[in-house]
Amino acid sequence: MTSELSAVADAVRSNDRFLLVTHENPDGDALGSILAMKLALDSLGKDSVMYIGGEMAIPPDYEFMALDGLVRILPADAATRVVLALDSATAPRTRIPPEVLEAAPLVVDVDHHHDNTRFGKVNLVVAEASSTGEIVRDLLRELGVPLTPALAEALYIAIDTDTGRFQYANTTPKAHELAIELMAHGVEPQEIFRRIYEAVPFARQKLKGKALDRARLYEDGRMIATYLLREDFEELGVGEEYAEGVIDELRAVKGVELAMTVREPPVPDGPPRRVSMRSASDAFDVSAIARRRNGGGHRRAAGFSSDESVEEIIEFVRNEFAHATARA
Ligand code: AMP
Ligand code: MN
Ligand code: MN
Repeated sequence: MTSELSAVADAVRSNDRFLLVTHENPDGDALGSILAMKLALDSLGKDSVMYIGGEMAIPPDYEFMALDGLVRILPADAATRVVLALDSATAPRTRIPPEVLEAAPLVVDVDHHHDNTRFGKVNLVVAEASSTGEIVRDLLRELGVPLTPALAEALYIAIDTDTGRFQYANTTPKAHELAIELMAHGVEPQEIFRRIYEAVPFARQKLKGKALDRARLYEDGRMIATYLLREDFEELGVGEEYAEGVIDELRAVKGVELAMTVREPPVPDGPPRRVSMRSASDAFDVSAIARRRNGGGHRRAAGFSSDESVEEIIEFVRNEFAHATARA
């Protein structure tokens, strides 16, 4: 790990132009990590561009972040920049075309997914890290980049969101220690809480209402599933990013070991359906189910895309769940 960390630090020091990327459908860790890295490279006097691929908009939760300059269309000079990927377990999740990755002078992969494919020439994969933001903090120390209030806030957003506000199993002492350090550099947790979690668009609550209304229990209440159709998004005039958080409500239900949502992205060129899964314990690995449909993720949070019907998808997951838990 230490040699991987210094290899990434060397790659940053010895290059001048970067393309900062993360996974499509970005979450708080993705956005916080990419922004922290951008601010760090700015302070080192290096040229960098933040890019997010895919068709999904940035969730409204993160509208307040200072993401100016972030592009959604790959810059024309992308293949001449060092690609620094953050929080992306695989190359396809960055949505950068393979030929661009191949042509790039260097690909650096910094991530905490246990199933990271190590797609970089240089890889820093720390599966024990609560978030990619936590790894970025170690990298900044290695690079001698001091924490500013803006940097501390970006890192805090990454850690706070990926640990479920310091409540999930990845909430380690190190994550808490980092929170202390970031607070000492100006982060006000109450302010970030207010901006991320207490500025919910009304349409989002209505969408959540639809999803909860339709939720059904399976397997004696050990599994729960719901779905959101294209019409639902269209009726409320919102994008798929508004569905974030629905799955957390499902997982919280008493007795549930596996929660899942199926969504139909309301865009013409996206996949027909996207599936999110959450497991209530480390004993049951949802990323194994996701991989059977070419998806992936963490043991307790994973997803995949599918063109099967909602019923077929739920039936597939239900079978996988029944078999896996029968074996256990
Ligand atoms: P989500 O349910 O979209 O919040 O995703 C949960 C986790 O699953 C994320 O950490 C992703 O890394 C992973 N994931 C979701 N969708 C996919 C996919 N289509 N392919 C690979 N990994 C995915
Ligand atoms: Mn992420
Ligand atoms: Mn993450």
